[in-house]
Amino acid sequence: MDLENAILIGVVTHDQNKSRAEEYLDELAFLAKTAGANPVKKFLQKLNVPNNKTFLGKGKIDEVRQYAKAEEIELIIFDDDLTPVQLRNIERILECKILDRSNLILDIFASRARTANAKTQVELAQYQYLLPRLTRMWTHLERQKGGIGMRGPGETQIETDRRIIGQKIALLKKKLEKIDKQKTTQRKGRGDMIRVALVGYTNAGKSTLMNQLSKSDVFAEDKLFATLETTIRKVVIGNLPFLLADTVGFIRKLPHQLVDSFKSTLDEVRESDLLLHIVDISNPNFENQIEVVNQTLAEIDVIDKPLILVFNKTDAYSYTEKEDDDLTPKTKENISLEEWKNTWISKMEDNTIFISALNKSNFDSLRDLLYDKVKQLHIKRYPYNNFLY
Ligand code: GDP
Ligand code: MG
Repeated sequence: MDLENAILIGVVTHDQNKSRAEEYLDELAFLAKTAGANPVKKFLQKLNVPNNKTFLGKGKIDEVRQYAKAEEIELIIFDDDLTPVQLRNIERILECKILDRSNLILDIFASRARTANAKTQVELAQYQYLLPRLTRMWTHLERQKGGIGMRGPGETQIETDRRIIGQKIALLKKKLEKIDKQKTTQRKGRGDMIRVALVGYTNAGKSTLMNQLSKSDVFAEDKLFATLETTIRKVVIGNLPFLLADTVGFIRKLPHQLVDSFKSTLDEVRESDLLLHIVDISNPNFENQIEVVNQTLAEIDVIDKPLILVFNKTDAYSYTEKEDDDLTPKTKENISLEEWKNTWISKMEDNTIFISALNKSNFDSLRDLLYDKVKQLHIKRYPYNNFLY
């Protein structure tokens, strides 16, 4: 397959330093690859306030234009969301296809959607994203038209399109409501077992862990958003059965339209009794990712739920040991896994564990921990029905 070459663009601001911005661009590159593009060049600009017409400053945008022209690049991806005005101006100056981060994520979700439910959810998010941006696509068609067919008198093309999309959105919402009701009934029919949900940043290893714990075969891949649908499996540890749900991953700046339209998928998380928050500790940005997941959970009203932080991919963790006589201050790169363990255990007490889902390391402890937690929840819910233990 011939991949489309792409330029990636990010900014350095006062609350986003250079190394952070570079990590974000790495993530954008991963997103771009997942979407089927081939990132060939990254541009970073120091910019505290983006230009409201062109996002980048004049010099930078010229530089990008020249590069794109020389290298015959037709796709430019911005890590930040662009306003409709910025998008239109940039498109005109750069004469390329321009995508912003939300665009890219929506595109990936669209290509990953398999079931009717996921497809409907993504479609809704796409229309909601499109609605305020219609101006850009239709300005050249904007003109007064008479009252023919569905159009009202004096309505412009853009108003018609807006109206059609508005109707489409209403229809999709109705469809989702119906699916929602079915799902709620399904969930009720699942009985009284304790429900545990895997949550975490995309690519943290949720599906891998699901497969290892339940011996199932959920699609896991080194790509972002490999799984959009919630998968539920029964897991038995000792004599204790519970339901384990694998859910869609989170990411920094997940378009809010997606969060909204994925409400029914995320109901599984909302209604679970215990969360396993999977963290990829081999990712240099993992602390930031924990933050993003916590924020997203708060956004969908999941707060104060029992939670275990599962640090995954310990096999892939690497750090540079510091010499004792080295006077340079210790940086994140010099922290050993042991030190991270101590830090997090003091923060989270016994609600934290370090594992490798890939080679099942520390799985006995994970099983013990899960057993204890699920048992506690069970006893709390059925105080008179403890024959299980
Ligand atoms: P999800 O997006 O959270 O469901 O993540 P996946 O389970 O799809 O895993 C993403 C990638 O990380 C896959 O390539 C997995 O093989 C890999 N992975 C998962 N767990 C581990 C682990 O413990 N160690 C290493 N090295 N890789 C892992
Ligand atoms: Mg997955």
